[in-house]
Amino acid sequence: MRFRAILIDGTRSSSASDKIGRMTLAQTERSDNVARALKSMLDRVADAALDEVSFSPTAHPEVLTTTWDELLAAELIERLPSGEYILTGRGWTAAVISAGRINDRGFEQRIEKLFGTLKGFVKGRRDSATVPLSELVTQTGLPEGFVFNIIEGKYMEELSKRRGASWVKPGRLVLIPVAFGIQPTDLRTLLDPAVVKKMEELEDELGTTRGDLSRYRCPHCNAEMTASGGYRIDEHNDGDYEQFSCGYGQRDGQVDSLCPKDPHFPKFEDFELVTNQREPGEWICRPKPKTPYAQLIGLDPCSGRTKEEAERRVKARYLHRSGQKRNITDRW
Ligand SMILES: [Zn+2]
Repeated sequence: MRFRAILIDGTRSSSASDKIGRMTLAQTERSDNVARALKSMLDRVADAALDEVSFSPTAHPEVLTTTWDELLAAELIERLPSGEYILTGRGWTAAVISAGRINDRGFEQRIEKLFGTLKGFVKGRRDSATVPLSELVTQTGLPEGFVFNIIEGKYMEELSKRRGASWVKPGRLVLIPVAFGIQPTDLRTLLDPAVVKKMEELEDELGTTRGDLSRYRCPHCNAEMTASGGYRIDEHNDGDYEQFSCGYGQRDGQVDSLCPKDPHFPKFEDFELVTNQREPGEWICRPKPKTPYAQLIGLDPCSGRTKEEAERRVKARYLHRSGQKRNITDRW
């Protein structure tokens, strides 16, 4: 919500100004600060490549700490090892939109020139074209930084939801998809100041990004995702899984392994220990889950030289799995 408010000047859309009206003053001030920060970064970058101009928070006392945090969370800026920030491609495009640069006649002319040139490379072809960035710069006569920023910022995708040019080799080689073609009407759509709609789409995307980020953390304890991917269920169906460092796991959207911080995490008493002697001096203890939740922690059998040792090892495994013991072999 805040993001939409910072991008819209409040006069273009009644729903937007309603929203701004409902916002608290503090929120409005913070949003204004984000918009101003974006604009001043865009101005400083000018025709340089967006990753060549960095911003130090100490050199910009007018930018609130919360602003840097918000820009970072929305992936509009990224932090360098030096502690300075640079705009991301997405940040550059968001700044172009929020600063109203797309209504600028000079900007429009550059876009027309660049997109016309890109289109020329795939005209009459059956497949996509790969062109050095330097070639695009020569042919268009545009500043290299500007062309870089348009491609790095996925300008075309952000504004028109069409497939645009992308990198084969970042900053060096550009892939122009064969479907890259803008009809005159499309070009008008692209440059039309129907900014509100575009910004809503951008906001939706940012919302998706934030949701995606929280997907990479365990919902109970915030542990990091350690693995994810797809697997073949059978010849007609594919599934996917996600695994987290705390032990939490999902398979096809269903929890299949519990986090120790999950209130449903079973007690040791929720397992029945079945211990048998396999041969002299070798016992095996199998923990049998007594509840459905106990089934979701995957406690393996353990062997030992005595019944007690085998059972103690299963207990040690449980304590490790429930996060009460760091090292599984302690006191084995
Ligand atoms: Zn967890």
